[in-house]
Amino acid sequence: MTAVSLKSRLESGKALFSIEFFPPKSDTSAEQLLRTAEALKVYSPDFASITYGAGGSTRSRTLKYARHLSEDYGYAVMPHLTCVGHSREELRGIITEFREAGLGQIMALRGDPPKGETDFKPHPDGLNHANELVGLIHETFPECTVGVAGYPEMHPEASSPDIDLLNLKRKVDTGGHFVTTQLFFDNAKYFEFVNRTRQAKIEVPVLPGLMCVTSREQALRFCAMCGASMPAELDQQLLAAGGDAAAVEAVGIDWVYRQARELLERGAPGIHLYILNREGAAVTLMEKLKAAGFYKS
Ligand SMILES: Cc1cc2nc3c(=O)[nH]c(=O)nc-3n(C[C@H](O)[C@H](O)[C@H](O)COP(=O)(O)OP(=O)(O)OC[C@H]3O[C@@H](n4cnc5c(N)ncnc54)[C@H](O)[C@@H]3O)c2cc1C
Repeated sequence: MTAVSLKSRLESGKALFSIEFFPPKSDTSAEQLLRTAEALKVYSPDFASITYGAGGSTRSRTLKYARHLSEDYGYAVMPHLTCVGHSREELRGIITEFREAGLGQIMALRGDPPKGETDFKPHPDGLNHANELVGLIHETFPECTVGVAGYPEMHPEASSPDIDLLNLKRKVDTGGHFVTTQLFFDNAKYFEFVNRTRQAKIEVPVLPGLMCVTSREQALRFCAMCGASMPAELDQQLLAAGGDAAAVEAVGIDWVYRQARELLERGAPGIHLYILNREGAAVTLMEKLKAAGFYKS
């Protein structure tokens, strides 16, 4: 899918389906990613995004697997890019590499501080915030479709939800074409966030980011890292499933299915799945959504 068609797809009003990979570090995890890419192709994702690691540590791997997914599997790939550890010129170089690889969309992020550090410190010749990266992408690659991150439960560093929203508006006003949200397990947080974005005159699609829980400990770790909350009802169900991995996954699938259904019924522009490079839960979810009349080809 070209940049233009992703833009028009976003504007079409038809529910989008997208997935997020991370670049694997070993041969075994690379095989897992490619197996997942093969298994999920049948659901014709509108795009597959691939994350960018701390300090530019995955620069070459992000590009390598972005190309793989695009050239060998036919995905419209959206590589992520962060400002961490890069000068403005290095960022320009990476954006140019993405363009030359035929990748028509980029997710523009500031990134988290490297492990062991608490504050984000920009490169001396680098960028402070994602809105500056959005601007640099537009300067370097004007026809690119640009995604930006949004936080229904507020970015952990923000001093208030209103300030965080103003900062989201800067990213969109600089040229972010759509927002993908941080994961959330409580749809009320998403709907409230979308209402607030509309009141703030942020008019672009806000694509909800969902994750199927397959481990309570992992989900709690993610929540602690990104500031998402774990609803008491979900937590009780996960605790009741105990150490039974299949029972935990069944709880996770049922929860994310009910989330996805309600989001789509109430007008969300689609769903973006944080799949952690695994296909099982995503396949079950998509089959359930198709059986319920969503995403029929
Ligand atoms: C969909 C999604 C994908 C992600 N993918 C990756 C990835 O691939 N790699 C990775 O390392 N991390 C990734 N992250 C995590 C992300 O990098 C962190 O959440 C990071 O801390 C903030 O990135 P941002 O782009 O939202 O930053 P920003 O938009 O720059 O915001 C960071 C903080 O600064 C504030 N702020 C923003 N702009 C300004 C401004 N102009 N002036 C003052 N304050 C401002 C905001 O309110 C916020 O508190 C992702 C997150 C999401 C939601």
